[in-house]
Amino acid sequence: MSDRQTENHAEAHRWLLERVRAETCETARSTGLNELSDRVIEAMAATPRHCFVAPEQQDWAYADMPLPIGRGQTISQPFIVALMTELLAPEPEDVVLEVGTGSGYQAAVLAHLVQQVYTLERIPELANLATQRLRELGVANVVVRAGNGVQGWEEQAPFDGIIVTAAAVEAPPALMQQLKPGGRLVIPVGPPHRTQDLRVLEKDAQGVVRSRSVLPVVFVPLIGDD
Ligand code: SAM
Repeated sequence: MSDRQTENHAEAHRWLLERVRAETCETARSTGLNELSDRVIEAMAATPRHCFVAPEQQDWAYADMPLPIGRGQTISQPFIVALMTELLAPEPEDVVLEVGTGSGYQAAVLAHLVQQVYTLERIPELANLATQRLRELGVANVVVRAGNGVQGWEEQAPFDGIIVTAAAVEAPPALMQQLKPGGRLVIPVGPPHRTQDLRVLEKDAQGVVRSRSVLPVVFVPLIGDD
């Protein structure tokens, strides 16, 4: 990468963080979030999105929009990544599960905030690419596995938090079971290829689940959850 491109990325990254902050304020009435925490902003600032997009997408790496990553899949819009991360309320000692690794970007953001990230991707080619990127960036606390995330990751459960980055018709029961009491599941719920409902499901100490709608979103479908 040329010095010029590095400089452009750095400037675009700063602009993106401002945009994400502004969008958080603009959507506060719906999300209930007036601002992002410093921890989440720092994690977004420390994660170079251009490392997770293809060479032909480099000019848009810091645009606040989803981008194609091949196989009909996308890297999510940065504002939505920041919002979902904040909604997960990650703590430094947490062990979290992500379903839908895609490019590995969301996992890399989470890696700055928690102790351990496990992430599942249905398409082996994407899982391999994400593993390679995370290794090149020196991210050591993310384990990527190719497989169907609808069943969760029983061997590593229970999780303090679970984030699903593809739209489910309903929250998969296995994921709810693998959530610790006091944990949160952040997930888009709704029909494929339509507007869905970003939801936070909280399991209290007694195992009772409360669900809250946060924002309309559009995600690629979670395959195999029906
Ligand atoms: N979090 C990703 C990122 O940071 O780039 C974006 C994820 S993309 C919007 C959704 C991903 O979910 C796709 O890569 C898709 O292959 C994956 N996916 C869909 N259904 C899945 C399933 N049942 N299990 C695991 N991954 C799945």
